[in-house]
Amino acid sequence: MTSTDTRVIAHWLDGKSFAGTSENTAPVTNPATGQITGRLALANLEDARTVIDAAAAAFPAWRDTSLARRTQILFSFRELLNARKGELAEIITAEHGKVLSDALGEISRGQEVVEFACGIPHLLKGGYTENASTKVDVYSIRQPLGPVGIISPFNFPAMVPMWFFPVAIAAGNTVILKPSEKDPTAAIWLAELWAEAGLPPGVFNVLQGDKLAVDELLENKAVKAISFVGSTPIAQYVYATGTANGKRVQALGGAKNHAIVLPDADLDLAADAMVNAGFGSAGERCMAISALVAVGDIADELVAKIVERTTPLVTGDGTKNSDMGPLVTKAHRDKVASYVDAGEKDGATIVVDGRTVQADGGPDGFWLGPTLIDHVTTDMSIYTDEIFGPVLSVVRVDTYDQALELINNNPYGNGTAIFTNDGGAARRFQNEVEVGMIGINVPIPVPMAYYSFGGWKNSLFGDTHAHGTEGVHFFTRGKAVTSRWLDPSHGGINLGFPENS
Ligand code: NAD
Repeated sequence: MTSTDTRVIAHWLDGKSFAGTSENTAPVTNPATGQITGRLALANLEDARTVIDAAAAAFPAWRDTSLARRTQILFSFRELLNARKGELAEIITAEHGKVLSDALGEISRGQEVVEFACGIPHLLKGGYTENASTKVDVYSIRQPLGPVGIISPFNFPAMVPMWFFPVAIAAGNTVILKPSEKDPTAAIWLAELWAEAGLPPGVFNVLQGDKLAVDELLENKAVKAISFVGSTPIAQYVYATGTANGKRVQALGGAKNHAIVLPDADLDLAADAMVNAGFGSAGERCMAISALVAVGDIADELVAKIVERTTPLVTGDGTKNSDMGPLVTKAHRDKVASYVDAGEKDGATIVVDGRTVQADGGPDGFWLGPTLIDHVTTDMSIYTDEIFGPVLSVVRVDTYDQALELINNNPYGNGTAIFTNDGGAARRFQNEVEVGMIGINVPIPVPMAYYSFGGWKNSLFGDTHAHGTEGVHFFTRGKAVTSRWLDPSHGGINLGFPENS
């Protein structure tokens, strides 16, 4: 690998860049060129504690800042983000590799959560019961938790943090964001934007690092809650460690998303959807479709329609007019290609082979083109494992019940979709399938910001999904107040449990 830049990507605390004291760094690469474009500061324990301390110090004043002021800052952040999202998209493409239009799409989905959080006064309203007992009123309030940690994956360096931090900050918490080591610059850009929007120093902080930084977030007593998104083994570890340390944890894990196509479906619509959901963002989406379950005798026709649409796709540099960018690292590209090798060895049919792609980009980019594999069976690693690349496997079954059984037997339960023109079949599917997010003739059913995002089974540890009402509940805790203002009569002594009167 060659290096074009000695740019250092540092931490962020108290409203400014913080170099830290650690000498450890990790290279950040541009996946389209294979070149190192920066060096990421990896926190040591002292750095991690300094950032957490800043978030803890900022909490008392931020929690007491009026809702009116907090929402004004949220609105300013939203305006700045909307006006300047092109800059952020370029940063994402340069470190993740996804095409610019897709980077802009991810920012827009994150922005929707910012817009949702602008309505926080309404979402934090409690209930009030007058005269619950004679001259006794009862009411509820929701309060912030304190400093909260957000640990995010490489595949959505802007959107995933934005699933959490707008709601956390609006609700009065302070935030420590620990981005992925692979594409850490987006977090710093967002931190600068918060400062420009008028957020007080210490409310939004960025801690750059690896396992050491994550472990300190999980163990440090000042941190009250953890929102994690990443692979299932790490999600499990984060959930177990965070909860053992008394923290509230939501840990979103990996996925293996199936789409069922029934014989009565519109096959052109389904083929378009499979290409978009299988190969968009080079398959590095937790809601990507990686297993197409073709029911009945439509498989040959459907596969032909997918091939027709896949062949003209251009894989290349995300800043050019490509349909699909590179994979995030060389190691990941090689791992995905090795799954294709294994599928071929196991007897599946490679219909479109991305291993031989002629990419429109640098010779050292991490290229793998769209790959379509037919006649995949459930014992093949190409089916059992989360591949996280542009690989769409076709599994052929005879009936809807067999298709449903495949999905319900899968250890993951993030997203799924059904393609059909039969409303009754769709309704049965939404009722019977054991998955958190369902699409009906929609391949990537990511819920809007005012609903909540999250899967079932090994795709989520904890019981609270991201954003929407569940997000507001995650970042706040409730209090119920029972109050009596004397009238001015006195109730007298009563050692019993009071009965309502
Ligand atoms: P990852 O699990 O490797 O990393 C996620 C975060 O955990 C990063 O910040 C990383 O620094 C940290 N981490 C990695 N190893 C660690 C360890 N041993 N101890 C402590 N922390 C550690 O995930 P990734 O490769 O960055 O992202 C891809 C994965 O994320 C895929 O499995 C994908 O399905 C999943 N994902 C899930 C969702 C969802 O909503 N369920 C959304 C996006 C991505």
